[in-house]
Amino acid sequence: MRKVAIANGSRSRLSNYISAIERVGALASELPRKISDSDALNALSGYDALVLTGGGDVDPRLYGEENAFSSDVDPVRDDTEIALLRAAKKSDLPTLGICRGIQLANVAFGGTLWQDLEKNGFQNHFLPEKKLVQTHFVSSVSGGILPDIFGESVSVNSIHHQAVKTLAKGLSATLISSDGVVEGIEDKTKRFFIFVQFHPELLLDTDERFLQLFRRLVDP
Ligand code: MN
Repeated sequence: MRKVAIANGSRSRLSNYISAIERVGALASELPRKISDSDALNALSGYDALVLTGGGDVDPRLYGEENAFSSDVDPVRDDTEIALLRAAKKSDLPTLGICRGIQLANVAFGGTLWQDLEKNGFQNHFLPEKKLVQTHFVSSVSGGILPDIFGESVSVNSIHHQAVKTLAKGLSATLISSDGVVEGIEDKTKRFFIFVQFHPELLLDTDERFLQLFRRLVDP
């Protein structure tokens, strides 16, 4: 049985992520909250994939900005997840980052974030009361695994107030919302190094393609 590591800095319930992994026939286990750079490769050994989950905002100092509208910043979680991501990239471990996960990945590899979408002229993308509802479309803008799974477009939920601003080198934006927010990025040189702004784990019964994303993670 494939084993999937879930980075766990959130201290919140990971049950939806765990169920999604179990739905595709894999075993999920939570990593320790604090892992150093030098321990990250070791922490991931024995796993077939890595999942980064939703949560608070990435520390804006990590991309050279003062805090403006960023909340629930957690430096231990940032450091741990950046170490895990770099180790996963180095070892070409299939990785799926969700919500905060796309933001963290972009920052880990040198990109920047919009600290608040609405304050910067985008629509409101923070709709927690509609977390199980598909509230806006995202469209495929180039080839990649995400366009391969989702086709021309897909309707997604939206529970975020930040998003990718300047894209990190080595990552490609493959899904974009109708108001221009980057909602899916990937490293096309890797087997499966995929990050999405929406929450596929909450829409598994709504559209088969969200489950497909987890299937490809465990069987790239
Ligand atoms: Mn959105």
